[in-house]
Amino acid sequence: MQITVLKENDANEARVALVPESVKKLVAMNVSVAIESGAGLLASINDADYAAVGATLTSDRPGLLASTDILLAVNRPGDDVIDGLKKGAIVIAFLRPLDEPKKMEQLIARGLTALAIELIPRTTRAQSMDALSSMATIVGYKAVLVAAERMPRMFPMLTTAAGTVPPARVLILGAGVAGLQAIATARRLGAIVEGFDVRAAAGEAVRSLGARFLEVDMGGVQTEDAGGYAREVTEEVMERSRELIAKQAALTDCIVTSAQVPGKRAPILVTEQAVLAMKRGAVIVDLAGATGGNCALTRPGEEIEVNGVRILAPLNLAATVPLHASQLYSRNLTSFLSILIKDGQLNLDFNDDIIGPSCAVHQGQAIEPRLKAALAVN
Ligand code: NAD
Repeated sequence: MQITVLKENDANEARVALVPESVKKLVAMNVSVAIESGAGLLASINDADYAAVGATLTSDRPGLLASTDILLAVNRPGDDVIDGLKKGAIVIAFLRPLDEPKKMEQLIARGLTALAIELIPRTTRAQSMDALSSMATIVGYKAVLVAAERMPRMFPMLTTAAGTVPPARVLILGAGVAGLQAIATARRLGAIVEGFDVRAAAGEAVRSLGARFLEVDMGGVQTEDAGGYAREVTEEVMERSRELIAKQAALTDCIVTSAQVPGKRAPILVTEQAVLAMKRGAVIVDLAGATGGNCALTRPGEEIEVNGVRILAPLNLAATVPLHASQLYSRNLTSFLSILIKDGQLNLDFNDDIIGPSCAVHQGQAIEPRLKAALAVN
């Protein structure tokens, strides 16, 4: 069985799906691993590093695709790649089947099987495969560094011969995986940090990192679903949240926002008025740009300045830390492959509580219910 990794399609994507340490593990599982020459270069991995652990390196993309049983990628491969795969081949990547169902049609037309990394359930058994958390960890960390680089002030309190410099005040909105890592990073840099989330459970996590948790009266409404994700809250709660955030924002040097509700537009937490009342030189890094943004003025993928306040909404921060992002993603994939491959052979067991839910398309048939429904109405 051949597992293949190509150079990612998008020129701005510096991550690679497998790193050498994982190739070594897969080769030991009795499968062959083929890597397109140069696939790891942007993540600081040379062809020779892959070859040293038993991978085959080649520049012959058509030949590589034709003999592929499982294609591993970070992002959904382009149609030219999909067209080059043999019928029945498996594609495993962040495929966005629920966000961009139409774009799954080429995979379906070609009779492929598609396993979407974002559909892997976030259960205890699947924890080592949770690439959403791996990437969110990196994004939360990097968001604070990006903000620190843009700010006209330092993060830590410093006592120098020229006098004392006060610590930066940082506000983190949304305390999921990315938000908590942002809090931890801002704390490590010496800032005074406040966190906000609609889930009460997040309060404990925020406080355990040495930050203050901002509390809003949720009106007795359940704000967390059975999977630990936030539910959409009432407009009244949103209004109370925005008021509290606006008050804190005026005192803050940096806001990192990461609030998301699965399947919905990101909640607007920072209003235009709140931005206009912020200090000149303050920075907002909006991590929810891909789903519309948590700040009313956010322009996804852009950096703008409003009244001296910079608002950034980077869309792929994980790719700016390509070595570690690839390493974590590659480990997540390898853990997933360890249940998909038995004795060097594919074991696509749909009764498995990880494999079943993550399979969006099987041999050209959309089988994930939400994808099926989306394709039926379009
Ligand atoms: P996410 O990216 O969906 O959302 C980020 C955060 O935004 C969440 O904490 C959410 O509560 C918050 N949010 C939503 N609406 C908001 C609003 N109006 N105001 C403020 N905050 C708002 O979440 P995530 O980072 O993927 O994590 C979600 C949950 O899943 C967390 O409880 C996390 O601990 C849990 N989780 C569990 C596992 C596991 O058990 N294996 C793995 C990863 C995450």
